[in-house]
Amino acid sequence: MTGRLSEGFTVLTPTHGVSDTGTLPAVSFRPEAIRGGRSTARESRGQVDYRLARNAIISEFRKGRLGRPDVCDAHPELVRAARQVGHRTTEECPICEQADVVLVSYVFGPRLPAHGRCITSRKELATFARKATVNTCYVVEVCPECSWNHLARIFTLGGPPATSS
Ligand SMILES: [Zn+2]
Repeated sequence: MTGRLSEGFTVLTPTHGVSDTGTLPAVSFRPEAIRGGRSTARESRGQVDYRLARNAIISEFRKGRLGRPDVCDAHPELVRAARQVGHRTTEECPICEQADVVLVSYVFGPRLPAHGRCITSRKELATFARKATVNTCYVVEVCPECSWNHLARIFTLGGPPATSS
């Protein structure tokens, strides 16, 4: 786990416009900017799970070693994405306990903008899964109430179709 926990999202320009998705403003959302992105994680079948790293941070927060400013630092655009297109869960925010966390997915890949593509529907995700290009999907857990955020998991999407012999 990294010692530094204040890494948030950096915005490329102060006046970022509408992204090429046409719906959400672009965020310079790089994989290494996501909390937990450089942590050790458990990998199985192409999916990396960040729950252990997440729980370690929550544990530090509960012990008082981390404060809210340390863990509730989601970029405003990430919070907005969470409110607009986030996938609702029934899991209560571990920090404020005032709202359920939502999951926001971003896809990164060679033909996508550097800041990734914010996924707004399952259909869009399915489209990526059918592509011959391999893309990586980052799922981030965000609390729309207190801005708690942590990487939930990373998995790959798409790739050349498997050859059956
Ligand atoms: Zn919260």
